[in-house]
Amino acid sequence: MRAVIASVPAAGWVMEIVPVGEVDYDLVAWLADELQPRFGVRSTIGEPFGCRAEWFDPSRGQHCADLILDSLVDWRSARGTMEAVRFWSLGVADLNLYAADRPFVFGVATVGGCCALIGIARLRDGAGPATEHCFRERVLKEAVHELGHVAGLEHCPASTCVMYSSPGLAETDRKTTEFCAVCTLRLIECLNDGS
Ligand SMILES: [Zn+2]
Ligand SMILES: [Zn+2]
Repeated sequence: MRAVIASVPAAGWVMEIVPVGEVDYDLVAWLADELQPRFGVRSTIGEPFGCRAEWFDPSRGQHCADLILDSLVDWRSARGTMEAVRFWSLGVADLNLYAADRPFVFGVATVGGCCALIGIARLRDGAGPATEHCFRERVLKEAVHELGHVAGLEHCPASTCVMYSSPGLAETDRKTTEFCAVCTLRLIECLNDGS
């Protein structure tokens, strides 16, 4: 199925992986390599984006995903990258995130937009004996999921599809890193519509 995605015309498309705060560079580089063929875009690693004090809510001990996503969108606008043919930014933060209506989230995205964010700190919880492998699989699933939203996809009812909603790690572990057949077709439609 991945080969189909890779066949989507990709000239001039760029996906920028942006480390937000302190993040393991090896993980970011690995993620950039993994994501490239899945969306048929060229991936690059962006300049690190510094952590801001206003993102942190001391009463919750968590960072606000919505505020970080807004900051990423503003940062992109200021850099003038909106005119690029297609330019997605994926923020990767080693933080525990919440959103306005949810006690914690693994990621957020501007649906059909330009930016997504994943928070990887909670993905280490109970990662099991193959800790690093399990952790990286989770990171990849959440990254593909949020970028699927950026492409324009909504949640999928198939529990093994990467676009299945993950309110917790049980759902993340159950789903795969791949789009189901329905989402694959929809993704190709979305990518072609925007090209
Ligand atoms: Zn989602
Ligand atoms: Zn699906």
